[in-house]
Amino acid sequence: MLFNTKLLHGKSTQGFESGQILPPISQVSAFRYESMEDLEKVFDHKKMGYAYTRIGNPTLGAFEQRISELEGGAGAVSCSSGMSAISSAILAICESGDEIIAGSGLYGGTIGLLHDFEKLGIHTVYADELNGGSVRSLINEKTRLVFAELISNPSLKVVPVAEVAEAAHEASIPLFVDSTTATPFIARPLLLGADVVIHSTSKYLNGGGNSIGGIIVDGGKFKWDFSKHTSLAEYKKYGPMAFSVRLRTDIWENLGGCMAPANAFLSYIGTDTLGLRMEKICDNADKLAHALNKIPGIEVNYLTLPQHPHHNCVDSQLGGYGGGILSFRAGSKERAFAIINSLKYAYIASNIGDIRTLVIHPASTLYVQASREETEAAGVYEDTIRVSVGIEDAEDLIDDFTQAIQNNPIST
Ligand SMILES: *Cc1c(COP(=O)(O)O)cnc(C)c1O
Repeated sequence: MLFNTKLLHGKSTQGFESGQILPPISQVSAFRYESMEDLEKVFDHKKMGYAYTRIGNPTLGAFEQRISELEGGAGAVSCSSGMSAISSAILAICESGDEIIAGSGLYGGTIGLLHDFEKLGIHTVYADELNGGSVRSLINEKTRLVFAELISNPSLKVVPVAEVAEAAHEASIPLFVDSTTATPFIARPLLLGADVVIHSTSKYLNGGGNSIGGIIVDGGKFKWDFSKHTSLAEYKKYGPMAFSVRLRTDIWENLGGCMAPANAFLSYIGTDTLGLRMEKICDNADKLAHALNKIPGIEVNYLTLPQHPHHNCVDSQLGGYGGGILSFRAGSKERAFAIINSLKYAYIASNIGDIRTLVIHPASTLYVQASREETEAAGVYEDTIRVSVGIEDAEDLIDDFTQAIQNNPIST
């Protein structure tokens, strides 16, 4: 089955109790049993069943099955937010004294989280460019994880997944990839060599901008070295699934960041149209980027433009698509604000991945807490405008951005 067919006919669409064509919303905290013996068996993992929504819920299960299937994973765990997914995934394998290698230009919330982890004794070292060479040179005996964003936002650096995975695997270190900006429609990092894929489902997977959520998908193939990843030692008997079992029955359950059943339903129905939306979004972004790039004085950062340093990754890793995010520099903060305020069709909002085009001045919002170095490493300057392109008609978007730029000339 290809992508869109799998969404409508895959395993995640089957097996609902009364033949419902969508997963029923199990909006309950707990599940009731006929006898105490039955509930004992469920807790003992001797009988399949649900007990309490923080530990498992069938609506969450349908969404997890769906994303796992799209990514080519062995199992998934859904979370209350993308940040909850990232923190649970990292805490499942990292302890005080451990080191993480991460790419620069990560999502601001992730930078903040890794900063918080310093206080727990988990240290992060950043590579300017994450590739086989930089990973090999940064790995030491304390390294336990390489963490990357497949397509960083808004710098749009693309991580060469296969070579980074190879370098990490040589030292028995797993590669976790935050693939939020790519989505499984554009790339499937597990098939390129990554070990775990994480999404903020609040963005493209949901697509409608109606609920916060996150998900962790385990490829289930990594050969864990239990003397290195000692927090998984207890789960040794599960072999390559040790991470999934530790995550689900331990850290995720205990941190308490489960997805709400209603949000799992909204995210599930959102993904029904993921393929259609991503095709339209990428096509619109490509057209808008090329059109704006022709305006004198405007240089657009978008992956399919020939001047982009990671242009060649579009075909080699991203299936020919450039994604839905582009940015350009206006010359000054004042002009950036004026252009943004003159747009008719773009919502001013701090989100990405919506069907509506969203626009923001990242330096004064998303990066207001970050240092100048961190901000510039993320490809954000005082005059940067970030656009998350939606599914409006491309001609309208091009007209709107062109008028906003031309009606607000650089002041002399
Ligand atoms: C939004 C985002 C997150 C955080 O997700 P939330 O759902 O907002 O918690 C993490 N990584 C990336 C790349 C994101 O865009």
